[in-house]
Amino acid sequence: MTAVIIDGKKIAEGIRNEVGIAVKERIAAGLSVPGLATVLVGNDPASQIYVRNKMKACDRLGIYSVSYTLPEDTDFETLKELINQLNVAPEIHGILVQLPLPPQIDEYSVLSMINPQKDVDGFHPINAGMLARKESEPWFIPCTSAGILRLIHSVQPDITGMEAVVIGRSSIVGMPTAQLLCRNNATVTICHTKTVNLAAVCRRADLLVVAAGHSKLVKGDWVKPGAIVIDVGINRVNTPDSPKGYILTGDTEFDEIVNIAKAITPVPGGVGPMTIAMLMQNTLLAASRYSA
Ligand code: NAD
Repeated sequence: MTAVIIDGKKIAEGIRNEVGIAVKERIAAGLSVPGLATVLVGNDPASQIYVRNKMKACDRLGIYSVSYTLPEDTDFETLKELINQLNVAPEIHGILVQLPLPPQIDEYSVLSMINPQKDVDGFHPINAGMLARKESEPWFIPCTSAGILRLIHSVQPDITGMEAVVIGRSSIVGMPTAQLLCRNNATVTICHTKTVNLAAVCRRADLLVVAAGHSKLVKGDWVKPGAIVIDVGINRVNTPDSPKGYILTGDTEFDEIVNIAKAITPVPGGVGPMTIAMLMQNTLLAASRYSA
């Protein structure tokens, strides 16, 4: 069996096009331009690239964006003041604080300060709580998790009753993804560094989502024939003879799994592009819900 390679770039482009059209229609109808504020603390090169890409995506879709870059030694109070201003700024519908934050700033406290109705990343405890409770619909679903579900739906529109295994229990990827799959009626197992016999658990999965941040962790013989495999990992592996001196790898042995699975996402070009597309969608959603 040769797996379908799920084309995240193409699916993300389709979503961005839809958002771009909706933004134009909104503006033509006399409504406000959706606005996103990004906040970056420090000068981590990867974070700078992520923020720049988010701003570029906004630009292309007609979404207003403003970026705040604060020095590495910024204290909590300074960041709090900025977030409080953005929380009430009428032209800003979405606020994104780029993670990770420097060690002197407590991430959870910062995320908890964002107006939950502008929390386009979906990391505020209210949004996380609403995702966890079946009685409620969260205002925002975390972008990577929402993107993962869209990729799965491109090959499997209904996941009811499927055995899903998620490797990773982080608050930004693993846990919300597991909750989202469960809300969509999959039977979900969450694995982490303390899981015993990870390979055997993975072999049960009809749907395997890998978000460990460990290059090529999942081998071909961990995968059930016909499974759908979503590789979230982005690992920079030093490779001196490559043009950039490093290559990007996922968390799975793609070349082995492609002959076993029913479908798999590549790295790059799988989950990565979806995260920004879903951020654009969440920003539009924020604008359409909370502003005239
Ligand atoms: P994290 O370090 O916060 O969490 C990793 C999780 O994986 C932890 O729960 C840990 O217990 C588990 N884990 C790690 N190694 C393991 C192992 N050997 N066996 C079992 N479990 C293991 O990372 P994160 O922020 O959740 O990100 C995970 C990966 O996804 C990273 O590579 C990150 O770069 C990538 N990521 C990609 C996107 C995207 O848009 N494509 C977005 C966010 C994160």
